[in-house]
Formats: sequence, C-alpha cells, structure tokens
Amino acid sequence: MKIDVTRPELGAAAAAFLARPHKLLIDGQWAEARNGATIDVEDPATEEIIATIQGGDEADIDRAVAAARRAFESGPWPRTSAADRSRLLWRLADLLERHAEELAELEALDVGKPLSKARTDDIPDAISVFRYFSGAPTRLTGETIPVSSAGDFHAYTLREPVGVVGQIIPWNYPLIMASWKVAPALAAGCTIVLKPAEQTSLTALRLGELALEAGVPPGVFNVVTGLGERAGAALAAHPDVDKIAFTGSTAIGKRIVQAAIGNLKRVSLELGGKSPAIIFPDADLDHAIAGAADAIFYNQGQTCTAGSRLFAHKSIYDRVIDGVAGAAGRLTLGHGLDPRVTLGPLVSRRQHQRVAGYLESGRSEGAEVVTGGRAVGHRGYFIEPTVLARTDRTMTVVREEIFGPVVCVQSYDDEDLDAIARFANDTIYGLRASVWTRDLRVAHLMARKMKAGGIGINCHNYAEPSWPFGGFKQSGWGRELGKDALELYTETKSVAARL
Ligand code: NAD
Repeated sequence: MKIDVTRPELGAAAAAFLARPHKLLIDGQWAEARNGATIDVEDPATEEIIATIQGGDEADIDRAVAAARRAFESGPWPRTSAADRSRLLWRLADLLERHAEELAELEALDVGKPLSKARTDDIPDAISVFRYFSGAPTRLTGETIPVSSAGDFHAYTLREPVGVVGQIIPWNYPLIMASWKVAPALAAGCTIVLKPAEQTSLTALRLGELALEAGVPPGVFNVVTGLGERAGAALAAHPDVDKIAFTGSTAIGKRIVQAAIGNLKRVSLELGGKSPAIIFPDADLDHAIAGAADAIFYNQGQTCTAGSRLFAHKSIYDRVIDGVAGAAGRLTLGHGLDPRVTLGPLVSRRQHQRVAGYLESGRSEGAEVVTGGRAVGHRGYFIEPTVLARTDRTMTVVREEIFGPVVCVQSYDDEDLDAIARFANDTIYGLRASVWTRDLRVAHLMARKMKAGGIGINCHNYAEPSWPFGGFKQSGWGRELGKDALELYTETKSVAARL
C-alpha cells in the first residue's frame, strides 16, 4: 500500500512556535539543560526532524523541584485565594481556547494524530478540564466531625495542598494528559514539575508559555523535558517531591513505585489496559460495530482504554468481524495534518517495531488476519488497521497491551452473565470495559460484574472532566478527573479542640 505522506503546511502560529528555541521552564524562566543535551523531535509520518527540545536530567529536575518548593512555601502562591486560583485556571482555559488551532496543529504533527480529531477532541477536551477544575478551589472544604468520646470537643478537618508534585505523562494525548494532572494540582494549591514524554513535548511547552501569560507565579508550574530514565526517574525518586502522578506503561509504573519508596511520596498511577468490548446478540449491531471499531482504531489504537479485546456472541460473530473489518477498510492512512486522513502513523519507530512484533506473534500463534496485519509505507510509522480472529486467551496478542490499531476478536456462546464476565475479566488489567446491548438489566448487571474502573454502556472510549477515571488491578492506583482527582492533590488534616 502506498501512502501520501507529504506534510501539509502549518498555520503561521504553529510554524512560529516550531521555529522558536524550546527550553525548560524553571522558576518562570526559560533555561537550557545544564548538561547541554538536546533531543530531536520527529514527525512520525515523514521521519523528518521538526524541532529540538532540551534533554533535561537530574540537575535540571533538582533546580525545578527547588523552584517549586520555594513557590509552595513562600511568595505569592500560598497567599493566593481560592477565588484567584479559580480565575487563573479560567484565564488559562481562555488562552488555550484562543490558541486552539495552533495547539491542534502542533498536537497532530507531534503525535501523528488526525488534525480533525485534535481539533474536535484533544484541544477542546483539555480546555474543558481546566474549566471544570476552575470551579474546584472554592469548593474544597473540610468537615466538622461529631465526637462521641468522653469530653467536649470541637473537631474538624482541613483540606491542604499535598505540596510539590511531580507529574510524568505519556505521548498518546499530550495536552489532555497534561490537563488531567496540572488543572487539579493548581486548583488544590500545589506546585508542579511536569515531565512530558520525550516524543511529544511541544504542547506542554506551549502550555508553559500560556500559564505564564495567564499569571501563574514563577516556580508554580515548571516543565522539564528529557528522557524518562533520566529526568523522569530523577523526579520520581526526588526526596523533596511530595507526590508523583504518573501515566504510562505498567512496567514503568512499577519502577515509579520503587523510586517513590525513598521518601514515601504519595503515588497515583494511570497504567495500561487490555479492555474488553462485549457485544450481546440483541445490541443495535450497526451502532455496536461502529463503536467497537472506533474503540480500537481511535488515535491509531494508542489509547490506554482501547477496546483491544472484542467479544461477540457466536450468533453475531461473523457479522461483527465483517463489520469491524469493513470499518478498518474505510480508514484513510496518511499524514495527520492532511484533512482527508482518518488514521495517522504510530508515534515512533520504537512503537512501530513493537506493534509489528505483535502482528508477527499473532500470526505465529495461529490468529487469523481478517484484514490489515502489515506495516505500510516506505516512510513513516504506519501500521494497517488490523482485525485478528480465532484468538484465544493463551495468545500473547490477547494477553499483552499492543497499543496499536489491532483488535483481537473472540466469540462466546454462553448465556450466563457470570461466565461472560469471567471470560472478559481474564486479564491483569482493569481500566475500561464496554457492553453493547438493548437490555437494561443485562447492561447494569454486567456493569457490576466487570472488574474495571470505567464501564461504557453502548459507548467505549468515553471521558469527561466530571467522571472519575482510573483502573482496577494493574491498570493503576487512584482516580483522575472528577471530585476524586482533588483527593490526589490534597492532604486531610484533622483538628480537635478540647472545649
Ligand atoms: P513509558 O511508560 O515508557 O513512558 C511514559 C512516560 O514515562 C514518559 O514521559 C517517559 O519519559 C517516562 N518514563 C520512562 N521511563 C521512566 C522511568 N524509568 N522513570 C520515570 N519516568 C519514566 O511508555 P512508552 O515506552 O512511551 O510506551 C510503551 C507502552 O506504555 C505502550 O505500549 C503502552 O502500553 C503504555 N502506555 C500507556 C499509556 C496510558 O495512557 N496508559 C500511555 C502511553 C503508553
């Protein structure tokens, strides 16, 4: 298959940003990495170098953490009222909105995702997270507690910011992932050192510029770009970081936990998934098939909640396979900035090699390739959208997270909901599950039986600022978004006064 990967022109604002030097944001100033290292940023569709960012390391993390500590303990931030923190978050959302087109182009170019999706989903979703959490500061309250023990007490709780937080984010939804972490932390009054993924740091750096423009005081929001094993590891292990929030692979999540042990910093984790989409025979099949295809092919399958295991009752199995394969066939591969494109490249050569390796393993373990199955193009990290049939629980492609546009379809013939749930729950992960049925009783019973942090009924990759997001089992610790996110960034202090 030949793919047109000519890069369309960027708009003036995105081109101007790309042309600027990209530095670290530390203490309100733009600085070079102490060691002089840089990282080339690639366009994953053309493999051309589009920018160079700083390769920050331990020394830069030290500087950024020190700045965040100073800003937490002194200066204007601890005295900033809840109402002013609200205004600041709202102002930042306004600025993101004003620069939405520029941000969408940068995100599409950096990650490889279709510009149309960056415009309608990534950037508006990130903005709505800042708007949602702008309502939080004035609603963060403690409680008065009735005391039943002997004596007369007045007891109550205070909610205080947890302190200096380190935030490490992945490359699949760079600005959305930054918003999920930065917005609640600022709302709670924390100070931040953000370490974006080395593949996709551009919109985090632009967010840094806009945060300064919005009036975030120096040191409150710091951005250190760099490699995970250098800058990320240093942040996770830093003795003066009070909390680390991580999104990425389960393997690195386990290393974060180990690194955090030194000072027992608080840890929250959003990790991998191998999420089931279960189609019941009574479902609106056109809707379910389109939903199941979108659940896996959206963002080139690089979504932690991706519906990568598809379960269809045997009576509808062939129709589901044909339908999802048909949807795959209608996708247009190419450069994300090309308006005709609906499936871009994977983010990097490494990710491309990983996914190509899984396709090979699926074949050798006996899966039937219904459609796709190959790396394509002579340039760029493209993989055909792929449907694997005749898969079973013993196969590596069914057990491990592929993080590419590859769905494994399995059939079931059980009528017993417990048995279906057992089948679909057979994974170390538990991030998302979706059930597709017209029967409300089945839908809600399955929602109870599935071991996952988020359940979609006739929908799959759904996220919303007010809806808590996170995983059971090895998909993570804690919940981002919603009221729960504020728990991650606050400590509860109990006060008892003997009267
Ligand atoms: P990763 O876990 O290696 O990287 C995620 C972030 O962690 C990046 O910012 C990276 O720089 C940083 N990091 C890497 N090593 C680190 C270390 N030792 N200490 C601290 N930080 C470190 O993910 P990846 O290699 O880019 O992608 C591989 C797999 O991760 C994917 O195939 C997928 O399974 C998973 N992933 C999951 C999500 C998600 O949203 N749950 C997102 C991206 C990737």
